Amino acid sequence: MEKKIIYLDHAASTPQEPEVTEVMTECMAGLYGNPSSVHEAGRRARIAIEQARRTVAGHLNLSTSEIFFTSGGTEANNAILWSCARDLGHRHFITSELEHPAVLKPLEVLREMLHVNIHLVKVDLQGHVDLQHLESLLDKYSSAVVSLMHANNEIGNLLPVKNVADLCNSYGALFHSDTVQTVGKFAMDIPRLGLDFAAASAHKFHGPKGAGFMVIRKGRTLEPLLSGGGQERNMRAGTENVCGIVGLAKALELAMQRVDEDQQDIAALKSQCMEMLRAEIPGVEFNGDAEGKSLHTILNFSLPPGMDANMLLPQLDIEGICVSSGSACASGAAKGSHVLKAMGVDPGKPSVRVSFSRHTTGEEIIQLVQSLKKIS
Ligand code: PLP
Repeated sequence: MEKKIIYLDHAASTPQEPEVTEVMTECMAGLYGNPSSVHEAGRRARIAIEQARRTVAGHLNLSTSEIFFTSGGTEANNAILWSCARDLGHRHFITSELEHPAVLKPLEVLREMLHVNIHLVKVDLQGHVDLQHLESLLDKYSSAVVSLMHANNEIGNLLPVKNVADLCNSYGALFHSDTVQTVGKFAMDIPRLGLDFAAASAHKFHGPKGAGFMVIRKGRTLEPLLSGGGQERNMRAGTENVCGIVGLAKALELAMQRVDEDQQDIAALKSQCMEMLRAEIPGVEFNGDAEGKSLHTILNFSLPPGMDANMLLPQLDIEGICVSSGSACASGAAKGSHVLKAMGVDPGKPSVRVSFSRHTTGEEIIQLVQSLKKIS
């Protein structure tokens, strides 16, 4: 029998809901036609995609014309940023050091290839974006594209998206947000939030891997990253991942059915985890704004110095506990977290990211804290 594990790495990926697997299995068995084919088998697949698009659009208060399915969050971010530089001609990008590599890396490539300028907005010690500095950057580069993530995947900090959108709007800048960690976690009204572009990924909300979407708001026009067929209204060439898209929509539907309840329950688990860590591990420090503007599913903390940061994850793994490392950068060790490093977190202290979902139990939190106490 397989060893039982305690999975506390839901920011990396989530278990797929059985109902999602069910609709995908049906899709795999029955919807084999190419959605671009003009016969019954093709039409059936096309209908499934368009139904999924309606579901997704409905949950985000968007129109179906604003949703473009992709292979996930990385592709969505790349497609948006590339087209802003290459096709819309933007030369200034404002972002932060705390972004996911799916934003930072394409921006670096754009700097090399298209000579765009990257301006880093300051972040404070808690990892929040300095809005005054953002405004001063916008004042200088009003035609910029601002790319700031909704929730940080390592520390969970939440961006005041609406405030940033209002700022961008007042200067005429475009606003892209990587919403990979927040879609499916909140009831989200994208028009109200004021984003121009957003990216999402199904496997972060109990859907399948390899399926995601980008949002391009009405009135904004981009060109595709991939050339080829005319799929996704000429915005994403390549035969659609029909069953992935169907699974994505089902996962979002399920997430939204119980979003408030899940949010409350998971926030309570996060508080329980923090309380227990404080009680059992003297000197534990929480990274980011864990008790403030923070996503309920993510908790990042540093343990007192002494323990070899490189050994912490393998030791938890031996205990059957799956978490992510969040260490700033231990000397001579594998590359540390660029997020903690940018926030000035002490690299001498081993850091851990635990992330929860509706599947997490109080018993799992107890086991995590007991194991940490034993090995730290
Ligand atoms: N952006 C953020 C904030 C993420 O957490 C991730 C996943 O780790 C991605 C982008 C990449 O998404 P995907 O795995 O769908 O390419």
